[in-house]
Amino acid sequence: MSDATREAMEYDVVIVGAGPAGLSAAIRLKQLDPSREVVVLEKGSEVGAHILSGAVLDPCGLDALIPDWKDKGAPLKTPVKQDNFYLLGEAGRLRVPNFPMPPLMNNHGNYIVSMGNVCRWMAEQAEELGVEIFPGMSCSELIYGENGEVKGVVAGEFGKNPDGTPGPAYEPGMELHGKYVFLSEGVRGSLSKEVIAKYDLSAGKEPQKFGLGMKEIWEIDPEKHNEGEVTHTMGWPLGGNAGGGSFIYHLENNQVYVGFVVHLNYKNPYLYPYMEFQRFKHHPMVAELLKGGKRVAYGARAISEGGYQSMPKMVAPGVALLGCSVGMVNVPRIKGNHNAMLSGKAAAEAAHHALEAGRSSDELSAYEDEVRNGAIGSDLKKVRNVKPLWSKYGLGASLAMGGLDMWTNTLGFSVLGTLGHGKNDAEATEPASKHKPIDYPKPDGKLSFDRLTNVSFSMTNHEESQPAHLTLKDASVPISVNLPKYDEPAQRYCPAGVYEVVSEEGKDPRFVINFQNCVHCKTCDIKDPSQNINWETPQGGDGPNYPNM
Ligand SMILES: Cc1cc2nc3c(=O)[nH]c(=O)nc-3n(C[C@H](O)[C@H](O)[C@H](O)COP(=O)(O)OP(=O)(O)OC[C@H]3O[C@@H](n4cnc5c(N)ncnc54)[C@H](O)[C@@H]3O)c2cc1C
Repeated sequence: MSDATREAMEYDVVIVGAGPAGLSAAIRLKQLDPSREVVVLEKGSEVGAHILSGAVLDPCGLDALIPDWKDKGAPLKTPVKQDNFYLLGEAGRLRVPNFPMPPLMNNHGNYIVSMGNVCRWMAEQAEELGVEIFPGMSCSELIYGENGEVKGVVAGEFGKNPDGTPGPAYEPGMELHGKYVFLSEGVRGSLSKEVIAKYDLSAGKEPQKFGLGMKEIWEIDPEKHNEGEVTHTMGWPLGGNAGGGSFIYHLENNQVYVGFVVHLNYKNPYLYPYMEFQRFKHHPMVAELLKGGKRVAYGARAISEGGYQSMPKMVAPGVALLGCSVGMVNVPRIKGNHNAMLSGKAAAEAAHHALEAGRSSDELSAYEDEVRNGAIGSDLKKVRNVKPLWSKYGLGASLAMGGLDMWTNTLGFSVLGTLGHGKNDAEATEPASKHKPIDYPKPDGKLSFDRLTNVSFSMTNHEESQPAHLTLKDASVPISVNLPKYDEPAQRYCPAGVYEVVSEEGKDPRFVINFQNCVHCKTCDIKDPSQNINWETPQGGDGPNYPNM
């Protein structure tokens, strides 16, 4: 589409993504100078529609940003009051006492929240300060200036035909130009990926690592509900097949978040993360909790796990990458929202000082310095060896060695230095010939559900008459390479059943992409062993519509 047909609007700062990082940046910019022109663009149909982390929130980010959040009615209503950690076997469990855990693992002072609702509330705060927020507006392209700097984004392009040509109701969208552009797209953002590649921002850093997080909300028997209880488990059903574990958080209204994370560096292409999650709910401890309850929502999202050593350089001319666009999750704590908020605040402060000095479209190096050397860096640095130890030695050894390393890091040193991650998650996949298929029990429809039924509980919708936002660099690879070599793992790693290999008698197998089911988790972009799938941002408003995830 020719740029000439698009209107352009000028802002001080253009922010892509209304998650905790982007909204914090918007709020801080306006706190520092109410006259700043700030816009936030969000691909979800409303703020919160694509936010998945059913979360235990460390309020330190919010404390720094809006110290009177309690008086302002922030939806942090359920303080953590009980913290359990179990190692699971198939039928039993072993409670790991809290006392040997490093203090950073303690959840007291944290809150069980719906991050979707926290983001909705943050958006209200931002709008009261005068920030313009446009939900249902996907940012599909970056605009570069004459000197190669990022100058803005294209947002709100609608109505293309399936072949990419303009359809009858085509809207070209708008150009939004900023003196600075903040990309706060969360994990594996498509524009962030482009910027990281264009400016080679990952040079000299460890590869980013990921997990796939899946989550259901359950309403359970009030007798079994214990508001404020937080439980984490490791061990069964994954065993030695993959790293990962579960979380069970009791929030308000007899609701429980039941979630499961599978580290995406697993080797066996027959592993089926979604079915591992479903199987997990049949553990006696979990089955007993959920029996008689009902699942009311489902969703999935990748989670960044590379930590301190994997964060790319986060600034380039005119652009800064915020929150999980660079991966700011503290893996053993499974927490990234506090760092996303702190990063938004830090980027806003750097941009404010630059604008005050009459600068624009340059590198906000003060932001990068603050992330690496301030509160975020200190949070991530202490736990930097946990993930590499787990990948290398498995659960048992990593619990002991990782625990020890977190303790010594809490005291200010590590005997291990900084360990590397080695391969990226796509490269970690081994040929199917080295592994055996895994036999997963059929879902019973009470505790466990088939994938497509569960996807209907994410309220996902994509306009069908548009180009698929999941594209293949080479259309032949799934059948000619991935099927014989890896038994095409896309059939299994996608938690929404987007990818199928259809085999009909007398015909060659076909690879089918049901893009309408996509819950925007981005796992395919990360895990495809041939790195042949590209996740592009679909038109605004499409995707999941999470209620209070
Ligand atoms: C299963 C799971 C459980 C987790 N549990 C916790 C927890 O208990 N506690 C915790 O602190 N953290 C937790 N996390 C981590 C936490 O979710 C992330 O650290 C956090 O979401 C990062 O915030 P963000 O603002 O960077 O990105 P996000 O929260 O992902 O927000 C990004 C926003 O940008 C929008 N967007 C993306 N691309 C575009 C585009 N091109 N155009 C327009 N809009 C766009 C998205 O729709 C989204 O709304 C969990 C993560 C997962 C997956």
